Amino acid sequence: MTTDLPDPSRRPTPGQLTFSAPRRGKPPKHLADLDPGERKAAVEALGHKGFRAKQLSTHYFERLVADPEEMTDLPKAAREELVSGLLPQLLTPVRELRADKGATIKQVWRLFDGALVESVLMRYPGRVTMCISSQAGCGMNCPFCATGQEGLTRNLSTAEIVEQVVAGARALRHGDLAGDAGDDEVDSPLRVSNVVFMGMGEALANYRQAINAIRRLTDPAPDGLGMSARGITMSTVGLVPAMDKLTAEGIPVTLALSLHAPDDELRNELVPINTRWTVDEALDAAYRYYKATGRRVSIEYALIKDINDHGWRADLLGQKLNQRGKGWVHVNPIPLNPTPGSKWTASRRGVEQNFVERLRSHGVPTTVRDTRGSEIDGACGQLAASTA
Ligand code: SAH
Repeated sequence: MTTDLPDPSRRPTPGQLTFSAPRRGKPPKHLADLDPGERKAAVEALGHKGFRAKQLSTHYFERLVADPEEMTDLPKAAREELVSGLLPQLLTPVRELRADKGATIKQVWRLFDGALVESVLMRYPGRVTMCISSQAGCGMNCPFCATGQEGLTRNLSTAEIVEQVVAGARALRHGDLAGDAGDDEVDSPLRVSNVVFMGMGEALANYRQAINAIRRLTDPAPDGLGMSARGITMSTVGLVPAMDKLTAEGIPVTLALSLHAPDDELRNELVPINTRWTVDEALDAAYRYYKATGRRVSIEYALIKDINDHGWRADLLGQKLNQRGKGWVHVNPIPLNPTPGSKWTASRRGVEQNFVERLRSHGVPTTVRDTRGSEIDGACGQLAASTA
């Protein structure tokens, strides 16, 4: 090309700018997509002083405020502009379901393009855990998982991931979440202490956004929410190259590997990506994560009746973990939450207990994970936005 003139066919017409329905393309840009330097640039691009970025961050990450009326330290004229430019509403509440006497809340959100995602807020004595989504749907196709049946709609943006946690933090601040049954001490102020990427999606398949979200969650206020990385769990089917990338980031989050079977033959069926990266390759990558970060890895194992709950599989798992080292790993068996129409059910209690004891007999720390919110389809693997 020899001309500097813009290609007229590329220039948006005013009509395209104002009426872009149906909504396609990218979610609106949001403060939480940007690092502090980018925020300053974005505020200046809107014609405001750079220091307003910090004020805006304080409102969003520290005060949890997105309403311009409450931003009294900003000139009135600037508020609307900055809020509409950098704090657009990304999540619209669709439905809210409560369980466990109000100590568990599941929220269904509609995104700008109509996609639905879910998050779950759970209060335990001394901590609050939030389970968040990283994608609308999921492309990993695990046959026992409700989200897996849906296929992948799209990746969430960084801010769409962060907003779920901010919404949870707001709900806590407003006292929406009841205390856990055994919780009689007053936890004040209540904060989201733990975040698990165990809602919809495979976060490591949306790598950049997931990592940026972790940075926003862990950056000290007012740049971010100021959470401890140790309170964050990244859960994966075992995308080995992405696990190694995460290792190299050097953020001390907890890594959870969804194993569900210690042998390739069965795991190929339960976690289809296993045909790409085998049990041994996934375990090796998990071990490398441990070696580099010192963080003990969690192995997730949904116990499915007569499918993967055999004593010999517990032994094989114990052997494979011990082959690599001692003290580097923890197993979390979880009773399967059958999805609608599933041919599979949870293992019987005695079988579950036997599986746990066999693992422990190999010296592998093992804790059965609880199934909060199962009656509101809020438990692991049930999130499928049935609202749709
Ligand atoms: N893509 C991530 C996050 C998925 S959800 C991953 O695979 O790790 C978090 C955990 O719940 C995963 O271990 C997943 O395998 C498990 N899970 C999915 N469906 C389940 C079900 N129906 N019952 C029990 N656990 C389930």
